[in-house]
Amino acid sequence: MTSTVSETTLKVAGSWIDGSPVVTGGPTHRVVNPADGTTVAQLALATPADVDVAVASARAALRGWSTAAPVERSTVLAKLAELVSANAEVFIAEEVAQTGKPVRLATEFDVPGSIDNISFFAGAARHLEGKATAEYSADHTSSIRREAVGVVGTITPWNYPLQMAVWKVLPALAAGCTVVIKPAELTPLTTLTLARIASEAGLPDGVLNVVTGAGADAGTALAGHPDVDVVTFTGSTAVGRKVMAAAAVHGHRTQLELGGKAPFVVFGDADLDAAIQGAVAGSLINTGQDCTAATRAIVARELYDDFVAGVAEVMGKIVVGDPTDPDTDLGPVISLAHRDKIAGMVSRAPGQGGRVVTGGVIPDLPGSFYRPTLIADVDEQSEIYRDEIFGPVLTVRSFADDDDALRQANDTDYGLAASAWTRDVYRAQRASREIQAGCVWINDHIPIISEMPHGGVGASGFGKDMSDYSFEEYLTIKHVMSDITGVADKGWHRTIFTKR
Ligand code: NAD
Repeated sequence: MTSTVSETTLKVAGSWIDGSPVVTGGPTHRVVNPADGTTVAQLALATPADVDVAVASARAALRGWSTAAPVERSTVLAKLAELVSANAEVFIAEEVAQTGKPVRLATEFDVPGSIDNISFFAGAARHLEGKATAEYSADHTSSIRREAVGVVGTITPWNYPLQMAVWKVLPALAAGCTVVIKPAELTPLTTLTLARIASEAGLPDGVLNVVTGAGADAGTALAGHPDVDVVTFTGSTAVGRKVMAAAAVHGHRTQLELGGKAPFVVFGDADLDAAIQGAVAGSLINTGQDCTAATRAIVARELYDDFVAGVAEVMGKIVVGDPTDPDTDLGPVISLAHRDKIAGMVSRAPGQGGRVVTGGVIPDLPGSFYRPTLIADVDEQSEIYRDEIFGPVLTVRSFADDDDALRQANDTDYGLAASAWTRDVYRAQRASREIQAGCVWINDHIPIISEMPHGGVGASGFGKDMSDYSFEEYLTIKHVMSDITGVADKGWHRTIFTKR
């Protein structure tokens, strides 16, 4: 694994602009392996001036790419899927090294999920249809053109660097847009490799550019760039709002995928073993650094004690350690600073009514590890219950009846994902209707699929990633209205003047 990383990423200069690696003007940034603190790569950061060059390159490439026949775009994207698949080991090694995620997760989820998403958009590029042409007025034929919105600026987080890049970049490219992407400065490697491989797949120079700068610097410049037509963003709610404000200065469109605080509602008739297993998997995936992760278990009173005991028992068996070891279940969180933030929130929970049932411990390992943690009896107003933790921590509360369960599920500013666990079809239907979130799972929590949309409501943002729905973020709708009478003296002219 390590040799694959050093052979590829340490050669990378910094950014990828106009089809080539570019040493940008900012200071050198060390990409750190959170499992042991070692250096994975040294990259030059991009400055706002570098962002200008990247945006200009995307603008110059726009006409050619947006007017290419759908089959041409589709062919390049299908080749990209093939090459990412052929280079899967490189992507896995880079993703594990820069994020610390367990190699099993990168191998079975991040990389195959990304390849599937690329393949989906390679096909979808050929199915961009408008509504049927028709005469809505007797004198005109109307038709709809769906056209590429233009140059896309996109900004992505560190938790699933490759998947988040693919979710933003692929629908944009399939729609005919050109892109400048700024990955998180902590995890730029797989985005750079994706751009390099896209070039090998035949993507014209300038269609996909990567700037590897810091958020406050290159990120701000990209979000507020006057020559970017739409800004799409995945990250925290606080930064998403700044991005939206920067884009609003120019009246530019935004799409925001933000934070989450997913409820996990276990009704009294649920399969308890399935719910316990689902809660552990749903809360610990990617070391809990998943915007859809189960964070608030809300459990029927009659199951509460057994649920808490069962989750604690399974969490206690989770293997925490070296992410390159296939037997490891849980890797480190992204950084020491993030681990300390999580530890701080957990340490304050008992003072706010919470009971730490298991975990709450920093293990004696190099790197930013944190033990799986279960906190029972949390107060509804406590910080640990209301704020995004983004770590391997699950909180639990009980509920009295179905109304109370659904009230608690919706008692959050966020609305990205939720799950309901029940064997009663009526309860399942009611929960899926009443829980306010972009996705409601029934008797599962986490699975995603390329054909279906992902995106939230409320403080979780708006707009969709994945699926045909995501095209709407990257297209404009143009109405073409053609006179079919051929006469100069059109009926409606009488509202303005009459022939005398
Ligand atoms: P973050 O908001 O700190 O950073 C996200 C990106 O924004 C990074 O590339 C960062 O460099 C950049 N950035 C920072 N400040 C900026 C600014 N002022 N202007 C422009 N860009 C700026 O988020 P993070 O810590 O990287 O990721 C974790 C967050 O992402 C969590 O809140 C998580 O819920 C969210 N997330 C959401 C989804 C979703 O689909 N809704 C998916 C993954 C992660």
